[in-house]
Amino acid sequence: MRKTFINLKKIVVKVGTKVLTKDGCLEEKQIENISNQIKWLVKKGIKVILVSSGAIGAGMGILGFKKRRRLLPLQQGLAAIGQNELMNKYSKFLRPNLAAQILLTREDLNQRQRYLNVRNSLLTLWQWNVVPIVNENDSVSVEEIKFGDNDQLASLVANLISADLLLILSDVGGLRSSPPAPRLRRAGQNEIISVVEKITPTIEKMAFKEKGDLTKGGMVSKIQAARIAANGGIPTVVAQGREKGIIEKVIKGEQKGTLFLPCQKRLKARKSWIAFSSLPHGDVIIDQGAKEALVKKGKSLLCSGIIGIYGKFKIGDIVRILDKDKKELGRGLVHYSSQEIEQIKGLQSNQIEAELGYKDYEEVIHRDNLYCPAGEESG
Ligand code: GLU
Repeated sequence: MRKTFINLKKIVVKVGTKVLTKDGCLEEKQIENISNQIKWLVKKGIKVILVSSGAIGAGMGILGFKKRRRLLPLQQGLAAIGQNELMNKYSKFLRPNLAAQILLTREDLNQRQRYLNVRNSLLTLWQWNVVPIVNENDSVSVEEIKFGDNDQLASLVANLISADLLLILSDVGGLRSSPPAPRLRRAGQNEIISVVEKITPTIEKMAFKEKGDLTKGGMVSKIQAARIAANGGIPTVVAQGREKGIIEKVIKGEQKGTLFLPCQKRLKARKSWIAFSSLPHGDVIIDQGAKEALVKKGKSLLCSGIIGIYGKFKIGDIVRILDKDKKELGRGLVHYSSQEIEQIKGLQSNQIEAELGYKDYEEVIHRDNLYCPAGEESG
């Protein structure tokens, strides 16, 4: 048995398309199955956010499409049709609990104020004992502002509300030590790793992309999601969503799926937003001395250590911090625009005013607005 999640108060449950659809159609009995388990959680006084895929799959079923359409406008249309169907079914099966729909684009979590607005909205729904059902707003999302997949979205939502557990229900069933042979897969004999203490490059290599007509995820994206959650101090379980009573089993500590343990040191909410929720607007390239100051000593970034920039960004934007070999070291929120940094790069902080005519900040990126994993020891 695993340590049970006895003190579980807040959980994000993510359900993948393959759990909810069969032969290109939404499977009503699966929505009922998941809804009943969510009701069980609510009854226990646990606050739940359900992140559900399946809109595009449902749309395909309604229009009788057999294969996933790659063109974005078609996906957008399918999602618009299917989302409605998906919500109708959840509303029906979650009764007497109320369900509420929250559709998000990357932009909603990218901007700090909108990020906090989403949070407030979710917390209000919880106060009213309503189950928020989140999905990507596929009908308006374009490639540049997409989350990528709902695994990532779920982990960002888990961080947003400081969940105690992220539970990803999929047909993958967990992280396997080797890709499953189809025969073994049918027999359910794949070797699933029960606990991952730390997401190392070896663990990442074990993930392999499963091909699917309706889905985007696969184990690679689940590991990325688990990493984001782990940095926020949140454990993730990836388990087989079609198994009866799976949520209860996981919560009671049965060895189901793979448990990814959280990092020891929980990243503060603001740093977690800088690291994972916001999209970078440009790059700042730094020299070796600054690299050591940031990564080893956890210091702020000064203009003296900057050797170049890419892109155009404003004060308050998030940028990637790169070393001279273009390796990403971290991310941070800048106190100076790209135009200003062009002027002050390489200077000492006491020369800023002479160059710009003002000096609002000593640092280009203050350490409180900086995420540098090696410096944070947050893995
Ligand atoms: N948002 C998509 C849908 O509802 C699913 C994305 C994913 O598979 O991760 O169909």
